[in-house]
Amino acid sequence: MPQATPKLNAFPVFMRVEGEAVAIVGGGEEALAKARLIGQSSAALRIVSDAAEAELLAFIAANGAIHIATAYDAAHLEGAVMVFAASGNEALDRRVAEDARRLGIPVNAVDRPELCDFFTPALVNRAPVAIAIGTEGAGPVLAQMLRSRIDRMLSPSLGPLASLAASLRGTAERLLPKGNARRRFWSDFFGGAPARAVDAGQLSQAHDAAVDLLLSNAPASGHIALVGAGPGAEDLLTLRAHRLLMEADVIVHDALVPEAIVAMGRRDAERLPVGKRKGCHTKSQAEINALLIELGRDGKRVVRLKSGDPLVFGRAGEEMAALRDAGIAYEVVPGVTAAFAAAADFELPLTLRGVSSSMVFTTGHDLKGNSLPDWAKLAISGATVAVYMGRSVAAEVAGRLIEAGLSPDTAVAVVENASLANRRRFHGTLADLPSLEVRADLTGPVMTIIGDAVAGANFERSEPLAAHRHEGAAQTAAEGAEG
Ligand code: SAH
Repeated sequence: MPQATPKLNAFPVFMRVEGEAVAIVGGGEEALAKARLIGQSSAALRIVSDAAEAELLAFIAANGAIHIATAYDAAHLEGAVMVFAASGNEALDRRVAEDARRLGIPVNAVDRPELCDFFTPALVNRAPVAIAIGTEGAGPVLAQMLRSRIDRMLSPSLGPLASLAASLRGTAERLLPKGNARRRFWSDFFGGAPARAVDAGQLSQAHDAAVDLLLSNAPASGHIALVGAGPGAEDLLTLRAHRLLMEADVIVHDALVPEAIVAMGRRDAERLPVGKRKGCHTKSQAEINALLIELGRDGKRVVRLKSGDPLVFGRAGEEMAALRDAGIAYEVVPGVTAAFAAAADFELPLTLRGVSSSMVFTTGHDLKGNSLPDWAKLAISGATVAVYMGRSVAAEVAGRLIEAGLSPDTAVAVVENASLANRRRFHGTLADLPSLEVRADLTGPVMTIIGDAVAGANFERSEPLAAHRHEGAAQTAAEGAEG
């Protein structure tokens, strides 16, 4: 027998309260909580308490609520559209509930579900849009968890966007025939240029973009978001990155971005891996640029997902230039770059009072050749240096820095798979650094941080790099002998 869908015992509705009186009886914490909740609406709050606490008094003053500062009387409820019995006193709350019921006003009694005509929801407020979560008393904790999950999914500018939609609804209905055309307009409105302009705080541009959409009847233009996926841990993704991922039609991602993050996109979103992992044959940068342009021209909403921050060794500069030349709209969403994740894993202060006040992001690949690059000079004058893609040039980096005058004893921290559960931490000195190159056990991405500030890190959970120095040297010698 098919299982019947469980029935709700409390049915959600949205009640008109604009300018209407809502009475709250009570002067303590419970009354304040309800006042804050109802204070999110345009109802006229009426608070009945002869013993209101300071915080509630401050709320009343700040929100222009009416305060009836005498002992409760049933007459105080008259004319209200909702009543809250929130005195914290069981007998009084019961009396308030009975009075309200006699007057035909729906009542809610705090923590006494048996006295309630209605329950208050956990609320995600993006006025005029509201999402109300009810659990029929299964638990406020569950409701709050759901609330924060939903809150994260929704753009902070959803409210203004919905207001703009409401102001255009009449025009859209006049200009567009009911059915597909109208549906497509609204889908382009909420997912396209008008929504992006509202997100950027540009309300008049949003209005113009919406009018363009209405009049041109043209297909929506594409948009590329260059999004930083962070160093690997899923919960280091920004809320904005998460939201864009869920809205994207196509996700174009690098190899370093974990599958779990790519999977956050819509189930029907197209996912295109484009590289690049050292040594693997993948799409060239020119091919990636061309792909992004093609997707943009097709009107797709694309998330171009890169590890860490897209503007740090992510070749975003080339992609942005190509998109600009092709006239395709794009935006950049920052991410937590690997150096920051590695520093956090090591509790390592990247700037340290009196020790280091500047920081260098570099690759070490520019050390080949004769002249020292600028960053090496900065390192010598005390900057903290974060070396990206530095494993295969570790010996070169260490050798050149020492040759240029940096002490071989300068502290070095190395993190493989920063931010991930399988991360490994190593500490040592510049003299130990070359051993990195010959270690076959480091297969994940590696971040190296060099400088005096590194000495301020926590080395309790790291292994010494030096343990591998001799082993590394022996191995190099053996390889040399073979060759
Ligand atoms: N845009 C990225 C960097 C891309 S370059 C960012 O901002 O982080 C790739 C290099 O980043 C890797 O060779 C490694 O040095 C570093 N990297 C990326 N993720 C890392 C991680 N989880 N742990 C350590 N290093 C990482």
